[in-house]
Amino acid sequence: MELTFIGTGSGRASLKREHSSILISSKKFNLLVDAGDGISKAFLKAGIDFNSVDGIIFSHLHPDHYTGLAALIVQMKMYNRTEPLTIFVHEELVNVIKNFLVNSYLFPERLGFKINYEPFTIKKSFTVNDEIEILADQNSHLTELTEYENYSNISFACLSFLFKVGENKIHYTGDVGGRDDLYLFKDMKTDIFITETTHISLDDILNAAEKINPSKIILTHITEEDESKLNFDLNQLPEIVRKKIIIASDGLKIKL
Ligand SMILES: [Zn+2]
Repeated sequence: MELTFIGTGSGRASLKREHSSILISSKKFNLLVDAGDGISKAFLKAGIDFNSVDGIIFSHLHPDHYTGLAALIVQMKMYNRTEPLTIFVHEELVNVIKNFLVNSYLFPERLGFKINYEPFTIKKSFTVNDEIEILADQNSHLTELTEYENYSNISFACLSFLFKVGENKIHYTGDVGGRDDLYLFKDMKTDIFITETTHISLDDILNAAEKINPSKIILTHITEEDESKLNFDLNQLPEIVRKKIIIASDGLKIKL
């Protein structure tokens, strides 16, 4: 079982990093976490077969996390997929995803494979199969947008995840809104803490990591302009802390 960091960039387009996306590969199921703009090309770069993906889950619907979905499904169709695809989606967003695909002319009747939607609720863990269990919780990344009264009818679901893969507990922050979001699963004995770095300071990350005490900290969602400072700051840390931290790069694989 392993994690593949398909993209490790932020919302800002970069020639060095694709938008953030991770593939969780287990023995029986490959779960893609986020599928933003350019995901299909990112798959080619990472050498991943489009049809090896069994399921997709979204942290939220900013374009760097989901708008590649339609293009990815086109690739699956072009590569003659027959196996069903499961889309795990927050219960408020099921129709958004369905409409996005239908309005991209990806009618279920034309695909050649079935898409199963599995709606989920926050704070209620659910199983993908006997290898993968998922717990989602709402974070505050989109909270400031709720002030726009004209759009009060849309969903602002924005999630952090705790993935249990075999014996490993992996906390993936997704995009966050502030330091409190780093503690959503603080009592869960996280082994691998994967955090974004665009909307949160390294100090906040290190403080959270000290309390959560994971064996590995993986930094992702990195804006190119921030990278040299991030490297500099990490190199000032005591060796015992520094050696737990990995700066993700596109294609990075972590064995579980
Ligand atoms: Zn993002």
